Amino acid sequence: MLSSLRTAPIKAYRQVTLMAHTILVVEDEKRIAHWVRTYLEKAGFTTLVAYDGKTGLYMARRERPDLIVLDLMLPEMDGWEVCQTLRRESDVPIIMLTARGREQERIHGLRIGADDYVTKPFSPDELVARVQATLRRATGKMRTAEVLRAGNICLDVTAHQCRIDDAEVPLSPTQFKLLEVLMTHAGQVLTREQLVSLAMDDAFDGFDRAIDVQIRRLRQRVEHDPSAPRHILTVYGLGYKFEP
Ligand code: CA
Repeated sequence: MLSSLRTAPIKAYRQVTLMAHTILVVEDEKRIAHWVRTYLEKAGFTTLVAYDGKTGLYMARRERPDLIVLDLMLPEMDGWEVCQTLRRESDVPIIMLTARGREQERIHGLRIGADDYVTKPFSPDELVARVQATLRRATGKMRTAEVLRAGNICLDVTAHQCRIDDAEVPLSPTQFKLLEVLMTHAGQVLTREQLVSLAMDDAFDGFDRAIDVQIRRLRQRVEHDPSAPRHILTVYGLGYKFEP
């Protein structure tokens, strides 16, 4: 039974436990904004809404959304200016909302850095599909700044850095990977076998119990009291669990 846990289903957990992507919708027509928001939330996204360009730009900088749905005709600052300004400072994916039949707008939008566009009037399914596709491309390309946080632990996967209470804690590559796997699957029990297959490189052919040694070392690094761990818990008879 244990060996069957080792394969395919584990991958899915990572997606499930990742935080929902946040989408910023910049649209002055309240009815459309509300409608877009409703459908994006139904598809599992977290949403933010701005009703004018200036507020949109401000929110994009402050909230750092994963993607922006940007209308072109906006009060205060139009979509072009918002897009151009943002492109100078970030790679955040932008989907523009353009009016039907205005080819030039679309071409110009893509030229100044929009990733995609949707023509009004549009179907909610189309918008959601484009948001998902654009996010997939963006995360495939960048995988930037993946930071896992739980309590006093901050794991910057991209920079390969672990901080406890804001102080950097050195971890070996194996310890780092083990902590990353545990934090990604927070709240779930992982068997020793799963931990070996997810956190150890292929050359590792130790007995599964060797994971206990690695866990003990990891606790010494990241737990305030390694003998009474608060995050990396033993689940008797099963394996280990990360408690955020
Ligand atoms: Ca508008």
